[in-house]
Amino acid sequence: MTQVVYDGRAWINGERCGARSGQVFDCISPVDGRVLAQVARCDQADIDAAVAAGRAAFDDKRWCGLAPAARKRILIKFADQLLAHADELALMETLDMGKPIQYARSVDVNSASNCIRWYGEAVDKIYDEIAPTASTALAMITREPMGVVGVIVPWNYPMIMAAWKIAPALAAGNSVVLKPSEKSPLTALRLAELALDAGIPPGVFNVVPGFGPEAGSPLALHMDVDCIAFTGSTRVGKQIHVMAGQSNLKRAWTELGGKSPNIVFADCPDLDRAVAASVGSIFFNQGESCNAPSRLYVQASIYDQFLEGAVALAPQYLPGNPLDKATVMGAIVDKVQMDNVLRYVASGRAEGAALLFGGEQALTQSGGFYVQPTIFAGVKPTMTICREEIFGPVLSVLPFTDAADAVRQANASVYGLQAAVWTRDINQAHGVARALRAGTVHVNQYDEDDITVPFGGYKQSGVGRDKSLHAFDKYTETKTTWIRIDSPV
Ligand code: NAD
Repeated sequence: MTQVVYDGRAWINGERCGARSGQVFDCISPVDGRVLAQVARCDQADIDAAVAAGRAAFDDKRWCGLAPAARKRILIKFADQLLAHADELALMETLDMGKPIQYARSVDVNSASNCIRWYGEAVDKIYDEIAPTASTALAMITREPMGVVGVIVPWNYPMIMAAWKIAPALAAGNSVVLKPSEKSPLTALRLAELALDAGIPPGVFNVVPGFGPEAGSPLALHMDVDCIAFTGSTRVGKQIHVMAGQSNLKRAWTELGGKSPNIVFADCPDLDRAVAASVGSIFFNQGESCNAPSRLYVQASIYDQFLEGAVALAPQYLPGNPLDKATVMGAIVDKVQMDNVLRYVASGRAEGAALLFGGEQALTQSGGFYVQPTIFAGVKPTMTICREEIFGPVLSVLPFTDAADAVRQANASVYGLQAAVWTRDINQAHGVARALRAGTVHVNQYDEDDITVPFGGYKQSGVGRDKSLHAFDKYTETKTTWIRIDSPV
């Protein structure tokens, strides 16, 4: 049987420690509402200590001074550690944030480990540049680590969101101070222990749990943090850019909200697959995915048929106990978020959308926080459920007439994270994909994903890209060194 030990203390300079104030907060499991652990409620003083530890590690070069091949070996060991503790990490993630255990193990642990391994493997294969200048000089263009990188992440994929940032930041030689979400802090703290076991020196990777305004803001405002990498809501993301500007103009990168459009044309090559992917992708992770296709646009001639198919599949996603290996939809992360989702359902009804499935709280006897998979038809572009990110299992379905109408409706959003188009016409696929204002566009599928491709948004879905070699741009400075050549020959 898998053993999980909950330790909610912070991790600073290679050691566990309580908040300097002595304060703690309850970490509540959404599975059944019970308290899992008491977690250090860190604030400015703890952030100062973590940043100082990161700065000392950077200055004495205990990590950035290692050859890239040496950092590679340690990061690969770190990735191996995640797999060696996969059952424990998966169980901790499920109990802390409510996702089904089968996905915590097969998706979250594996993706986080793969991400750390990939950046470890990449780092000794990247070359710097020599500019094509005149022969009287040599201009070297080199990449250097920035120093101390602050990382703030949300609760929906706690390990994966952290890995997308800490892996390239550490591989490039930076020190990291990670603030996990107050709603799901446990696996991040465990990752820090596993990193030390793998050989990442003390002070290089610090984890400071706490609330956003108390621990996140001091990190974003810190004068000795060189870069802040944030994933979370657009509302807080905007504040992060302000805090970066208000303090030391640290580099600020943000991965923010989404309201992704999913466009199905009548000539879609496989309607059953389109229905299954459209429904499966909005309900995956309880709808708590930034890239969830929450706006479904269906061409008018197949609208009724498509809706019928979607509603027929919805019962497969009724929530169950996340610890049951057969469960595909788990618990919503906490009561606050569950109430948000139910408020959006109420607004959809009040504004005149037709509720075709779900819409109610579920498994109320469990003590946890569950919502039925929910499908609204007859949604109008002006309705709140069509404009705002719900971050729950709620699908809004709208009809469209032709490609121009679909693109106009799809782009009528402040967000631009992802989009999809389903059609067998190659011209239509390319034309619509180009016209969609989104960081990623899927054609005839929604679930392709790979660490090798950049991930991030247009418009208010954020600034910068996670994943792929592009992520190194966020955690390195570019230096030009001019060398004069007085050639004797
Ligand atoms: P959130 O913005 O409320 O919180 C995110 C993190 O910011 C948490 O760690 C929180 O403690 C911290 N925070 C809150 N207020 C802060 C402040 N004033 N100063 C500094 N830090 C602060 O978001 P959430 O509810 O945790 O996550 C859901 C959001 O994350 C959704 O909008 C979702 O779309 C987005 N998200 C985006 C991506 C992406 O890659 N684009 C991925 C996952 C989630």
